[in-house]
Amino acid sequence: MDMFEQIGSLAKRRGYFYPGSEIYGGLAGTWDYGPLGVELKRNIKEQFWKSIVRSHENVVGLDAAIMMNPKVWEASGHLEAFSDPLVECKTCHHRFRADQLQGDACPDCKGILTEPKQFNLMVEAFLGVIEGEKQKVYLRGEITQGVHVNFKQVLNSTRVKIPFGIAQIGKAFRNEITPGGLTYRSREFEQMELQFYVSPKDDEADRWMEYWKGQRKEWYVSLGMKKENLRFREHDSNERAHYARRAFDIEFLIPGSEEWKEMEGIHHRGEWDLSRHAKFSKEDLTYFDEEKKERYIPWVIETSGGVDRAALFFLMNAYEEEKIKEGETRIVLKLHPKLAPYKVAIFPLLANKPELVEKAQSIHDMLKKSWMVAFDSRGNIGKRYRTQDEAGTPFCVTVDFETLENDTVTVRDRDTMNQERIEMQKLEEYLRKKLE
Ligand code: ATP
Repeated sequence: MDMFEQIGSLAKRRGYFYPGSEIYGGLAGTWDYGPLGVELKRNIKEQFWKSIVRSHENVVGLDAAIMMNPKVWEASGHLEAFSDPLVECKTCHHRFRADQLQGDACPDCKGILTEPKQFNLMVEAFLGVIEGEKQKVYLRGEITQGVHVNFKQVLNSTRVKIPFGIAQIGKAFRNEITPGGLTYRSREFEQMELQFYVSPKDDEADRWMEYWKGQRKEWYVSLGMKKENLRFREHDSNERAHYARRAFDIEFLIPGSEEWKEMEGIHHRGEWDLSRHAKFSKEDLTYFDEEKKERYIPWVIETSGGVDRAALFFLMNAYEEEKIKEGETRIVLKLHPKLAPYKVAIFPLLANKPELVEKAQSIHDMLKKSWMVAFDSRGNIGKRYRTQDEAGTPFCVTVDFETLENDTVTVRDRDTMNQERIEMQKLEEYLRKKLE
């Protein structure tokens, strides 16, 4: 079973994501999230914010502009060093990332490859109203720099003290040489990051690095990622990005394969960002520690995850094909309830019985105040269960003739497929216990 194929087809069938601008033949490296995908991503981002910002008194949030003064990218080193090695096949002219190829022949036609040359990944845009005088800007290649250029503003406008962090979620753009693997490598994607400022001492930096490594791995596990499918991998010195002193990836094992893929990076960025911005902007970006009477440029420990990669890997992690009985299998997404797009689906047993439909509608109205709730009255109940299983909906509630007699409903659990009869009055409380 090829996981990328399975998820790609399920994503399209159920509305998780589609290739970008598909009716015009698409645009390589872009994806559009459908009704279920947008909910999944919102839930991931909300859980990130909860665990990083709301659960830490010393972390605040920020939302910086995507387009920034181009000097930012000069200072950050992106214009000079944010590149991948590009090779081209001399026969078919297909282009590849040299560090992702094994051997020196072209995978498509076995032709000879050119020597690698560095290809810059920044996406350019042009601003201004006078043709010929437009200013070249860049769509940010990482969301990180929006935080560092606001370091002083945050210090001056809040009560934070080192050690403290600034979290941000937002879009980033890279002119990737070989986008692919569904949303895994796109040209437009979303990142969720924490930039955590510490005093410039090795033991402090190491301590916080370990703390955030633990926090981030635990976050994935708490939302249902199987522990055995996660690992840390440390970058060796020739693999590290230009800003990093030490770097670890959290990697995910693609189910059904032996392939580990990067999901998030945890980096010790040292004083790189603040010292470069101080030099290029001529602003004083030092920090003064009132208690110790020390002035210094803080070091940065960063956690940088991809929202799209997390969404893709949560889907893969949740995907199961289960044999129910001889000749019948079901596809089910065992997504953590906090991530599932719809928490509950409500079914009137028969669509042509107004009493059942009305009752089901009233339950829908009651529950929609708390959660995303689906409503389905088409086809037979078995088919409706299969649809919700594929969508990852944890619970289905059926309104039947017994409901009209005694105000009870059946609640069916996605994972166990067990059904329980619950009093309508207690339904919300019952679901709340299971969902929150
Ligand atoms: P890769 O080696 O896969 O190109 P990277 O090491 O350059 O990734 P970082 O710059 O550390 O990635 O970015 C942090 C995170 O942002 C990654 O772990 C990933 O989750 C996400 N990310 C980076 N590039 C992309 C992309 N092109 N598409 C989707 N997500 C991405």
